[in-house]
Amino acid sequence: MQQNLFADDGLKSGCIFCQILAGQSPAHMLYRDDDIACFLDIMPVSEGHSLIIPTRHHDDLFTLSQGELDAVSRFSRRLAPVLREVTDADGIGVHQLNGAAAGQTVFHYHMHLIPAKQGAPRQIHGRKMADQQQLADIAAKIRARL
Ligand code: AMP
Ligand code: ZN
Repeated sequence: MQQNLFADDGLKSGCIFCQILAGQSPAHMLYRDDDIACFLDIMPVSEGHSLIIPTRHHDDLFTLSQGELDAVSRFSRRLAPVLREVTDADGIGVHQLNGAAAGQTVFHYHMHLIPAKQGAPRQIHGRKMADQQQLADIAAKIRARL
């Protein structure tokens, strides 16, 4: 049954981001509509590190439709200034990896938005799990400004 529900919704069984979309795994959700969802990265590079994903499962960019790509891109334009303001960042890194060879570790297409401070080391992947309360606090601030 689970399998069918997922298939009908464009979700893929066993995919952690699809489980988040289905409400079966927790996330600090920032935004969701029919086309995209956005939530905080659980292992952030910096405070406010966010992921934007399509609500239909795609492993990577290679199968994403133009419409889905446009929806992700539009939302990145909306989110970036909010992240910059809330985290007092000097810049926002936008990163998107396709395939293990490129460093992709979760195979549901996603775009990273990573607030960056001048002089701080640049990375795409964090090294430790964030404190849940800190994630909840920053998520509330971001949601209030979206
Ligand atoms: P990538 O290497 O581009 O595929 O990035 C995958 C990202 O997903 C990493 O930054 C992980 O920290 C993040 N991630 C993995 N599992 C979760 C989760 N359950 N909730 C939020 N972020 C996650
Ligand atoms: Zn998925």
